[in-house]
Amino acid sequence: MTQTEEQEVAVREVPLVPIEKIVSLCKRRGFVYPNSEIYGGVSGIYDFGPLGVELRNNIRRYWWWSMVQTNDNILGIEGNIITHPRVWEASGHVENFVDILVDCKQCKRRFRRDHLPEENQQQNKCPECGGELTEPRRFNLMMETYIGVVEGDKMKTYLRGEACQNIYLDYDNVLKSSRMQIPFGICQIGKAFRNEVTPGNFLFRQREFEQWDLQFFVHPSEMAKWFEYWKEFRFAWYQGLINHKDRLRLRAHAPDELAHYAKQAFDIEYRTILGWQEWEGIHWRQDWDLSRHSQYSGQDLSYTDPETKERYIPWIVETSGGVDRTFLNLLLDAYEEEPDPSGKEARTVLRLHPWIAPVKVAVLPLQKNKPELLETAKNLYKQLQRVMVAQYDDIANIGRRYRRQDEIGTPFCVTIDFQTLDDQTVTIRERDGMTQVRVHLNEVKPYLLERVTWNA
Ligand code: ATP
Repeated sequence: MTQTEEQEVAVREVPLVPIEKIVSLCKRRGFVYPNSEIYGGVSGIYDFGPLGVELRNNIRRYWWWSMVQTNDNILGIEGNIITHPRVWEASGHVENFVDILVDCKQCKRRFRRDHLPEENQQQNKCPECGGELTEPRRFNLMMETYIGVVEGDKMKTYLRGEACQNIYLDYDNVLKSSRMQIPFGICQIGKAFRNEVTPGNFLFRQREFEQWDLQFFVHPSEMAKWFEYWKEFRFAWYQGLINHKDRLRLRAHAPDELAHYAKQAFDIEYRTILGWQEWEGIHWRQDWDLSRHSQYSGQDLSYTDPETKERYIPWIVETSGGVDRTFLNLLLDAYEEEPDPSGKEARTVLRLHPWIAPVKVAVLPLQKNKPELLETAKNLYKQLQRVMVAQYDDIANIGRRYRRQDEIGTPFCVTIDFQTLDDQTVTIRERDGMTQVRVHLNEVKPYLLERVTWNA
């Protein structure tokens, strides 16, 4: 099968997956654990296990490759979590990064007011029990911290509430050190912290999470063109990774949702059991950020066009998404309990794109009691392990071993059987269609590399 055919096998209508199924799979198979679980956990904070860290790394690397490595006019940075506190005054976070909260007087549940249905907001009624809601209260989401050791001499600052501020702070340094010219962009992947008042839905809304951002700097006259370009680019990027294309859409912000400087904003949304939810935002930031930082820092961040000598503050197109939301959405998109035609237990399969699947291949000797099979299998495993994440498994019957791999999304299983000893060929079984091909041992590595890596 070609790679496109392999992808098509996965495209079928399956029910939306309850989040609890993903939570349970993630814990059972080592993708995600509750943070500090032995102390009772902390709501909205998670750790990533052995498979989770591989999946995250693949997601991040693929983003970096598509955004930074393969675009000539984009560079990457890695800014720090802690910055000068004035940054957050200039950005407006100290004053405005607030959620408006209401509590139910009856059932004591807490809600973000903007998340309540219109009707409940108007009638001041709890959507769960119909009880009366308290007066709205404002909560700032920034997490505070202190720099310095001597009491009284400490400087209060914040763990960054959004990763992108570092890009504005480093913009001028990148420009000067790289000899870039506008239009150009700066990318970053990094942690952000928000004292979310209603964390929940697993990785969807956390207090510590990771964002990926592109800030693309343009001449004002080219803003509309680049906004369109990046909107389409990012939409196609997500589409390329999912099976259920009909669950992805672009939604334009209504006028009352727009930030005061924004002419347009779009959310790339994905439909899960929670309904349509933001996955990534595409924002028309105009000259807001660089103007504010010029004003607050006293440093002139304007740009002089080397040819026309025109001087201006560049305008910005932002694409800002979440690594953790991507992680969760891709699991929700990939998860399927496929009925077994022979009436046996359903097959749980994660139809993750082979590029981002945490384990690329499992090497399985057909029987454990044949030393020649084990030796050949281990040699192949050692060879593959150097170029991709591989697992070796000789425990339990082959059917069970396939199921274990299907459940974690391993796209290929290589089985070493008796025929291998005669003619040096092995069976490669593909996860989605469960089709099998026979390949010579020398061909296994190139066969797999071509299918599991985006840059092969
Ligand atoms: P929301 O409306 O869901 O609160 P937002 O508009 O505040 O999100 P942005 O500030 O635009 O989100 O952040 C960019 C991206 O970061 C979001 O599209 C999302 O993928 C991710 N993100 C934001 N907040 C969280 C969070 N608390 N937990 C996990 N990911 C988040």
